[in-house]
Amino acid sequence: MGSLGAEIFDQVSAEVVNKLRKSLKASTVYTPGDEGYAASIVRWSDAFEKKAAIVVYVRSPEDVATTLKYCQDNKINFVVSGGKHSVGGTSSIEGGLVIDLAKMRDVTVNEADKTVDVGGGCVWKDVDEAAGKYDLAAVGGTINHTGVGGLTCGGGYGWLTGRYGLTIDNLVRAEVVLANGSIVEASDNNNQDLFWAIRGAGQCFGVITKFTFQCHEQKDPIWSGQMVFKADEHLDAVVNFANSLMAGKNPDAAMLMGITAPPFVRGPAIVVTAFYNGPKNAGEAIFEPLLRLGPIKNTCDERPYDTMNGIMNHAVEYGGRKISKGASFVLPLRPTFVRELVEELTFLHDEVPVTKRSILLFEFYNNVEVVKVPTSAMSFANRGWHQNALMGPNWSDPKDDEKCKRWLAHMSTQFRNELDRIGIENGNLAEMQTIGEYGNYDGTGVAPQEMFGPNYARLTELKAKFDPENMFNSSYDLTLPA
Ligand SMILES: Cc1cc2nc3c(=O)[nH]c(=O)nc-3n(C[C@H](O)[C@H](O)[C@H](O)COP(=O)(O)OP(=O)(O)OC[C@H]3O[C@@H](n4cnc5c(N)ncnc54)[C@H](O)[C@@H]3O)c2cc1C
Repeated sequence: MGSLGAEIFDQVSAEVVNKLRKSLKASTVYTPGDEGYAASIVRWSDAFEKKAAIVVYVRSPEDVATTLKYCQDNKINFVVSGGKHSVGGTSSIEGGLVIDLAKMRDVTVNEADKTVDVGGGCVWKDVDEAAGKYDLAAVGGTINHTGVGGLTCGGGYGWLTGRYGLTIDNLVRAEVVLANGSIVEASDNNNQDLFWAIRGAGQCFGVITKFTFQCHEQKDPIWSGQMVFKADEHLDAVVNFANSLMAGKNPDAAMLMGITAPPFVRGPAIVVTAFYNGPKNAGEAIFEPLLRLGPIKNTCDERPYDTMNGIMNHAVEYGGRKISKGASFVLPLRPTFVRELVEELTFLHDEVPVTKRSILLFEFYNNVEVVKVPTSAMSFANRGWHQNALMGPNWSDPKDDEKCKRWLAHMSTQFRNELDRIGIENGNLAEMQTIGEYGNYDGTGVAPQEMFGPNYARLTELKAKFDPENMFNSSYDLTLPA
């Protein structure tokens, strides 16, 4: 399908757009020049702010269906936008149409079965706060301005993963507008094959206008917060602690280890975000080896779950150019390897001095619940005992785009080499080579065959069934041969 480019838009805009406006029941349409247009194309990363020809703030599944038909009839390329945190620009488009779900942010808590119905354009703050009022919590993202839509479509790791698995493991049903305009339920009872596909590759199968999640009782506060250490003093101790935390397999304890360069520390710093779903004394006992190191800064305390998911927001707000790449590592993580990566981060700081807000993130979640679900159960294919890492350069000038992307590629190779090294050392290289990466952290366009591994062939079959014209193609091309 050809794209409606800016020049075509200039010629036919009024006619084309008026037709659309008239056909929609309650949605709002913006085009360049309209008040509100500039705000409508803002994305979490400035690198992905693209000049769409038309932005439609849809307000109902019916209007989504109408917009899809309109795109088909007028041969207009489109993307779907949820929370706007795509790390690869898959929710923005140059010259095409954006189906923006940002006005579909209703949340309804169903007390009887402890589920929550969530509008397709919600961010996690909407869910955390609504569920929190009923002492309930969902497995959501760790930054609460992130979108429910993209995060759920691609899997979803969060603080409650250790206890309850991934976000998709807690998805009960979804309302999906398919390419042909039909509005269907995907669940264990209806359209099971679609349900299989959307739990991992949801963004390739339709517009999800409502998610229903199983929530969990969360009456008590969480002991959590951030501890900051100088990397050159405490890196080995922090990494060794993280390894022992994971060896303990406590489903209620987790941590993130971010390496960055905050302005109040000279040189790279380690920012540990600690999580324990329990009382302060127990949390302090578990994290005592870190507390004993004497962090430069320590904000750990008891706080409600819905507040917990906002404590890292300040580090990853909107603004600046960002792209990220995922990687995987196995436990125990080698301090020497991390030290090498910290050096690579300082090389980036030297080469592109405005990259101090860049981050290297290592996640430590107990994966027991994640691996309980077979890889074949849903299209998501990143299950295993490995952990996720994320490399996230943050810069400001488009002229540095290529340097930052080169750095990402180089860092990605370092992670891959480390897995290979371990595989050779332990005699399980073939197994190490099956470890992929978390798709939602990839902004570099990893091939879908690689991302979905053993599930890819089935995905292509279902793609042919539910989206034969490959209209939902901005993140992966699932028509490529297996
Ligand atoms: C600051 C930050 C923190 C993050 N933290 C976490 C975390 O804790 N855990 C985790 O697992 N991941 C995390 N991620 C990764 C996150 O899951 C992805 O960036 C995800 O794509 C964001 O979804 P979104 O709706 O905000 O983004 P968008 O840019 O709006 O959408 C991303 C993709 O999903 C599609 N999409 C969005 N909504 C829908 C919908 N309703 N129906 C169909 N398709 C849709 C879009 O078309 C696009 O392809 C984080 C990312 C960032 C930038």
